[in-house]
Amino acid sequence: MPTEATFFLAGLFVVAAAAGWAFAHFSGYGDEGPPPPPVNADYLRGLNLVLNRQTDEALELFVRMAKVDDETLETHFALGHLFRRRGEIDRAIRVHQNLLARPNLAEAQRDQALSALAQDYLSAGLFDRAEKLFSDLRGSSTLAREALENLVDIFERESDWNKAIEAHRALEVLTGKKSSQVAHYYCELAERSRLSGDLDQARQYLKSSVRSETGAFRGKLIRAAIAQEDQDYAQAIRLYEQVLETDQRLMVDILPELVTCYQHANRERELEQYLQTLMTRDAAVKAALAYAVIRNGLLEPRILMECVEEFIETHAVLAGLVDTERLGTLPHDDRERAISKVVEALQRLAQSGVRYRCTSCGYGSQRLVWHCPSCKAWESLRPIQALQLDSLVA
Ligand SMILES: [Zn+2]
Repeated sequence: MPTEATFFLAGLFVVAAAAGWAFAHFSGYGDEGPPPPPVNADYLRGLNLVLNRQTDEALELFVRMAKVDDETLETHFALGHLFRRRGEIDRAIRVHQNLLARPNLAEAQRDQALSALAQDYLSAGLFDRAEKLFSDLRGSSTLAREALENLVDIFERESDWNKAIEAHRALEVLTGKKSSQVAHYYCELAERSRLSGDLDQARQYLKSSVRSETGAFRGKLIRAAIAQEDQDYAQAIRLYEQVLETDQRLMVDILPELVTCYQHANRERELEQYLQTLMTRDAAVKAALAYAVIRNGLLEPRILMECVEEFIETHAVLAGLVDTERLGTLPHDDRERAISKVVEALQRLAQSGVRYRCTSCGYGSQRLVWHCPSCKAWESLRPIQALQLDSLVA
């Protein structure tokens, strides 16, 4: 949106360019060097037009100037950038295309203009055009890294994971820095294959992802889901439990799957033993378990009900609300009915909020996503594990 500030900024660019131009031409005036040419009056006219918001006229003027004066190049880049930032992409494209049409443009300047034009296309959502230009810039001596970073960004937006893998690997070679992103791309491909029913292909992709810690961790979750679909419940249980050993915060998603797998494998007794072990662990594990039970309304097997009962008794606010002293005096069946009702209420409360939140931008999601759709950060979404009791108390 055009604002006073941007017009003022545009004015500043032109003033700075005019001052620089005048300084460059007049500073040599004296004993040595040729006499300077007169001040370029077009700059001042351009400044006036920008300040009077006659953007079209100003654009025409600057485009004409580029044809005649090499020293206006930087001003044109600044102007193009300004148009793009104001959302006037057509004008930005015009400025940059005009620059590229200039004969005898130095290589670095040509690359800079190509990159600026590619950024315009990105802003306009014309990803295929931006991709073409950034691909041309991969061989640039000055802008190869920027081009590859932008290509990675485009391929991520388009979920073109194969191309993202290739571009990111090239970026790693160029910078000498490795990251976990490539493992995520393989996991994305594996998930896609799993969802389309091609489990063998999914396993193939996962083999490539395990080289990094992130890939191994996320890969385990996908392999567990594949095993579950293959009805290999023993393998699924083993993998889910390994994931929980590493990060119990995923309990809210994993617990229902784990319970299902144990039940399908007719191993209910072992499930009780496993849950019993979890309940003897530290307070964080117990809280994660209780939250997973509440959020999923999961009260079978019975031991999960005990887990919630303990959670309510030890919770500063809930203990008072539920009247745990009276709860303890109720007959067994009545107590279980009462706890079920509390869980039902808490579940509604928990479901009124989002399940995951991005630690980077605050984006909320109901499901676990590894790539924030809002800020594009990887692995930034964390499960919310606390009940928002304010409304309940109110
Ligand atoms: Zn985010």
